[in-house]
Amino acid sequence: MRQKLVAGNWKMNGSRASIKELLDGIKKGIGDVVNSEVAVCAPAIYIGEVESQLSGTPVAWGAQNLSTEASGAFTGEIAASMINDFNCKYVLVGHSERRTLYGEGDAVVAKKYAVARAAGLKPVLCIGETLDERESGVTEQVCARQIQAVIELEGVDALADGVIAYEPVWAIGTGKTASPEQAQEVHAFIRRILADQDAGVAEKVQILYGGSMNAANAAELLAQPDIDGGLIGGASLKAEDFLTICRAAG
Ligand code: PEP
Repeated sequence: MRQKLVAGNWKMNGSRASIKELLDGIKKGIGDVVNSEVAVCAPAIYIGEVESQLSGTPVAWGAQNLSTEASGAFTGEIAASMINDFNCKYVLVGHSERRTLYGEGDAVVAKKYAVARAAGLKPVLCIGETLDERESGVTEQVCARQIQAVIELEGVDALADGVIAYEPVWAIGTGKTASPEQAQEVHAFIRRILADQDAGVAEKVQILYGGSMNAANAAELLAQPDIDGGLIGGASLKAEDFLTICRAAG
C-alpha cells in the first residue's frame, strides 16, 4: 500500500509574516493527520525559516526548483547541495511554469531529476499536457515522453527514488480540475507504462494529482486507486484548506 503524500507548492507567494502564520496554522492542525505524508515547497529565500519552523514536526519541506550545476558562476541559481544544507526532503522538477515560462525542456528536467536524486533529495517530477495537447488526443504521448526522458538518462529504477506529479497544464491555477475519472485514467496509464518496464517501480512510485485541487474536490480525487496524493498550489496558502486536503488523504 503506497502512503499518500500531500505537498504544497507555494510558488512565488508569501512573506516572512504570512509564512509564519500559515505554518503556525498547519502545525496546530496537523496532529490529526496520521497516515499521510505532508510537505510544503517554499520559495528558496524562505527555506531556512521554514526549516526552523518545521523541524521536529511531521511536516517535511522542499524547494521548487534547482540548478543542473553543482556550483560556480551561475548567478541566481541554487544547487542541490544548498537545498540539502537546509534539510529539504523534496524538490519540484519540471513544474509546468518552469517548462512554459523558463523554457525548461525534457532534457533539462531529466538532468535536474538526476542531480536532485544524486544529492539524496526526492525529486517530484511534474508532467502533464496542455489544453491543446488534450484536445488533440495526445495526453498519453506527452506524459510518456516526459517520463521517458528521465528513464533514458537514469534508468527506470530512478523513478522509485522520486515522486511523479501529474498536473494537466489546463487545470493549474485555473479553477478547472480534471474530473476524478479523467485524472485516474492518466494515472493508471502512467503506472501501466512504468509496469511495462519494471513492475516493482510501478507499484512503489507515488503519483500525485495537481491542478486546482482544493478542500471541496480533494476527497473524490484522492479516493481514486492510482492517485497517491496531491500537489497543491493555491489551496496550500490557506492553512484550513490545506489541512482539509491532508485529512482527505487520510
Ligand atoms: C501547482 O502549482 O502545482 C498547482 C497544482 O497549482 P493549483 O493547485 O493552484 O492549480
